[in-house]
Amino acid sequence: MKLVAGVFCALFAVASQSFARLEAQSTPKYDILLKSAHVIDPKNRIDKVTDVAVANGHIASVGDNLSPSDAKKVVDLNGLYLTPGLIDIHVHVVQRPIGIGVPPDAFSFRSGVTTMVDAGTSGWREFPEFKRTVIDTSKTRVLAFLNIVAASMETGNDDNVAEMDADAAARMALQYPGLIVGIKSAHYGGHGWPSVENAVKAGNIAHIPVMVDFGYLRGERSIDVLFNEKLRPGDIYTHCFAGHRKEVLDSGELNPAMEQGRKKGIIFDLGFGGGSFYWFVADAAYKAHFYPDSISTDLHTGSMNGGMKDMANSLSELMALGSSLQDVVRMSTVAPANEIHHPELGNLDVGAEADIAVFKLANGQFGFLDSAGARRSGTNRLVTELTFRKGQVVWDLDGLATEDWKSFPYKKGPNDPYRK
Ligand SMILES: [Zn+2]
Repeated sequence: MKLVAGVFCALFAVASQSFARLEAQSTPKYDILLKSAHVIDPKNRIDKVTDVAVANGHIASVGDNLSPSDAKKVVDLNGLYLTPGLIDIHVHVVQRPIGIGVPPDAFSFRSGVTTMVDAGTSGWREFPEFKRTVIDTSKTRVLAFLNIVAASMETGNDDNVAEMDADAAARMALQYPGLIVGIKSAHYGGHGWPSVENAVKAGNIAHIPVMVDFGYLRGERSIDVLFNEKLRPGDIYTHCFAGHRKEVLDSGELNPAMEQGRKKGIIFDLGFGGGSFYWFVADAAYKAHFYPDSISTDLHTGSMNGGMKDMANSLSELMALGSSLQDVVRMSTVAPANEIHHPELGNLDVGAEADIAVFKLANGQFGFLDSAGARRSGTNRLVTELTFRKGQVVWDLDGLATEDWKSFPYKKGPNDPYRK
């Protein structure tokens, strides 16, 4: 019986090997081949025209002259820029209990964003509900900074010190490692430092960074003290070009505290928002060669129709200030990925989830607004052509990855949406 079983196994092994060979011959190894885009992948120091292949939702290969015969589908991206899917580390996508959040998928893909980090809309008490209703139901990868205020942001508790329970916040963060990527201190207007201090305490327990929206400036709370005495290297100062906290001095020069903070290892994040990005602040910073480490939108119902608009527009605004395309791609891919301790994101490593953005760099006369509505001229605007999430097309502005309607294989039937 043993012998018979052995023979059978050997026969089966031979048969399955030949089947595998046949399979290899008939099935292309790539699901999609993106040909001839100018690929910018700052983590891997790629900045040239080359090809990117995707298989099973992951990056399969990046290199010159990948063969179209190896792919089920080939998309010609000649003249366009291909980058890792963008990471926006400051958005508001919790719609309840407050009304400033927007649905992630409604704003992410059309702007090349594949990962969003909610910046402390939710405190620990609301987090399970946020996870159930938004994080788990979105195609966009949604991560979170947890507000140090248990009851969530703008629920009338931003100054309520009794709500700032560092241990409880850290416990929730440790329950969802990788999903809760940091603690947020936001909008504090009371005395002293309880908001920042409790956020840092929770960050220390859970080994995650703190993001600070410095709230309302008071005499005893300056950015000097914040950077030098309160925050740790790797903590994030968002709204870095807001100007509300003396980031720029009355003389028009950049506050030296900014450079000192950077030397200590504080991260400076844009957090454009509805009231946190002004040309006179950004211009002074750029004149002092002080650039943001990361670009984020602070997307919410109060910023999306103002100067900010979306992530691609925010990148274009910094290009109008003088940043190169390579700079703004770095600031929205590998840099934020490292800031939130997710080094596997924001790059085109072989084996990484195939989160990809493709842009047209339009040349012309464009206008870019700050949070006050003041205009600055620019000659480049990034237009999001294609976005892939896990290898699937989730945004296709000009139909680059699809077929002409005359050859499109419509499924025709009652109540059929006529898709393929
Ligand atoms: Zn915000």
